[in-house]
Amino acid sequence: MINLETKEYCLNKLYDERAEIEKRIEELHIQKMKLKSKDYEMGQFAQERDRINGFLNNAFATHSKTSARIKEFKEDAVTGDCTKCEEKIDEKDLQENPCRRLCIKCQKEANNHNHSGAYANVGVGTP
Ligand SMILES: [Zn+2]
Repeated sequence: MINLETKEYCLNKLYDERAEIEKRIEELHIQKMKLKSKDYEMGQFAQERDRINGFLNNAFATHSKTSARIKEFKEDAVTGDCTKCEEKIDEKDLQENPCRRLCIKCQKEANNHNHSGAYANVGVGTP
């Protein structure tokens, strides 16, 4: 089990992150609304629209991951144990990244073996 202080810290961090993502979604929606085909050469408009949609999809995915993690913390479903080796994750590491499910050692291994990002940390604000 993680201690209460870590839980509070992680929840606050996740709420902040989610607020940032919501701001970004709002900004992207505005960008999309302002997008006018007449401002672009042929083909460029579709490219620009797809680019914004791509960012939006990423933002939505991060938003739902963050919300799911908030729910886990609130329901005390976060044990703070590594899902691979079942060692306790250092609480400082968990505070640094509340979405972390692997201890530093397993995370490093996963990063080396797997570049597809299945274990990648959830980044915020990265397009
Ligand atoms: Zn581990």
